Amino acid sequence: MPLPNQEPQLIKLKHRLSEINDIESVVSLLHWDQATYMPAGGATARGRQIATLKQIAHQKFTDPALGQLLEDLHPFEASLSYDSLAASLIRVTRRDYQRAIRVPAEFMARLSQHQAASYSAWSKARPENDFAKVQPYLEKTLDLSLELASFFNNSQHIADPLIEQNDYGMSVAMIKPIFQQLRQQLIPLIKAIADSPPINNSCLHQFFAEQEQLSFIKGVIFRLGYDFNRGRQDKTLHPFATKFSIGDVRMTTRVYEHHLDQALFSSIHEMGHALYEQGLAPEFEATPLARGTSFSVHESQSRLWENLIGRSRGFWEWFYPQLQGTFIRQLGQTSAEQFYRAINTVQPSLIRTDADEVTYNLHAMIRFDLELAMLEGTLAVGDLRDAWNERYQKDLGLIPSNDTNGVLQDVHWFVGLIGGMFHGYTLGNLMSAQFYEALIDSDPEIPVQIERGNFRHLHHWLRSEIYQHGRKYTSDELLERVTGQGLSLEPFMNYIRNKYGYLYNIKL
Ligand code: ZN
Repeated sequence: MPLPNQEPQLIKLKHRLSEINDIESVVSLLHWDQATYMPAGGATARGRQIATLKQIAHQKFTDPALGQLLEDLHPFEASLSYDSLAASLIRVTRRDYQRAIRVPAEFMARLSQHQAASYSAWSKARPENDFAKVQPYLEKTLDLSLELASFFNNSQHIADPLIEQNDYGMSVAMIKPIFQQLRQQLIPLIKAIADSPPINNSCLHQFFAEQEQLSFIKGVIFRLGYDFNRGRQDKTLHPFATKFSIGDVRMTTRVYEHHLDQALFSSIHEMGHALYEQGLAPEFEATPLARGTSFSVHESQSRLWENLIGRSRGFWEWFYPQLQGTFIRQLGQTSAEQFYRAINTVQPSLIRTDADEVTYNLHAMIRFDLELAMLEGTLAVGDLRDAWNERYQKDLGLIPSNDTNGVLQDVHWFVGLIGGMFHGYTLGNLMSAQFYEALIDSDPEIPVQIERGNFRHLHHWLRSEIYQHGRKYTSDELLERVTGQGLSLEPFMNYIRNKYGYLYNIKL
């Protein structure tokens, strides 16, 4: 439905938001270029260009005139239904505006300056295995994270405002009990798997030429529904998906020629993010509604495609003959069942991004707990490495032999804030199983269609239930609408118990 044209204040609001959106989209384009094709010599100027544009966008968004427009639109908003396009646009923009104006521009400048310095220190310290070098930066990041949280003085927990930046409506009080239960259930389950005979996944670690991998992947994501007329895939160091408009949603990947699963599953993952953005309602274009609901819901969509679909037996029923045809020399003697087992090997490890879907959540929850302890003041940054290693020993039975693979491994704390991100990875996993359960309930034929290489109904369901709504609903509202309940642990645990009980031939 188009916006009602009779409301002049709404037209003014849309015009302002569209200008801000255009600046932000150009920033995304500059980031994409930086990560794909920009020569190294462009780095300094690019950093400056991005900072300038971001500042202009921030000034425009926090302009009191925009606040006034939102005030003036109160009666109009009240006359509309909650989930109408216009009411949703006004509501979500007001929420963003009220958050944005609480944070002084001077603080934002200080924060981004520090983040750039911290990132650069981490880039050197990580390969050199030198935690001491970044410790002072991390201490300052902690201070700045606390300062940012302090601008929102109505929260229950000091971490809540940081969580709400990415997951509006979520809080420590809500997340912590679910994570505790999840951890309690996962640790014995992983132990039982570790005590079973391991799965042989050596078929994935032969030589697979880059060009052949890329063209196979292109065929897969096209079949799954990624629209190449409104996107493209390029190479990069760290895979990501990004949007410049609903008509231009790109993704990137990296290829390891001795790890067949890396590019394949990270591409399906990023495609999940990209399908979400390609599936937004076109009338949301250039407004704050034209994005995924939240960080965790976005992650639920990438993980749904990557794991619940991409690592399922039915998926490979269709795609394995094609993969085998592409790599006949390497996979000619490997059956679809053997391949399915290989891509689902569970192996406690030190690196979060390489973790399988069973152990992955332990990695994310370790970081979440350590973040909370730092923000609460019960863990000093100087003791972080010991606390990290202790938790890895306790949860995964491993101690990092160095900090490069330990406390220094993730970029998040060193380029962003302490708090507000890591919970989202686990929430995304839980939600992915919850959404998938609702999907199968509403159309039990979908698994059969997947085996036949037909992804249209699945994609259509996700588009109509989740993608098209953009930021109209909060994570909780969306979960309630789609699954009939709030966040729940059960669907994920049922999925894990069934799948891995079968794969490891044990009762989980
Ligand atoms: Zn992701």
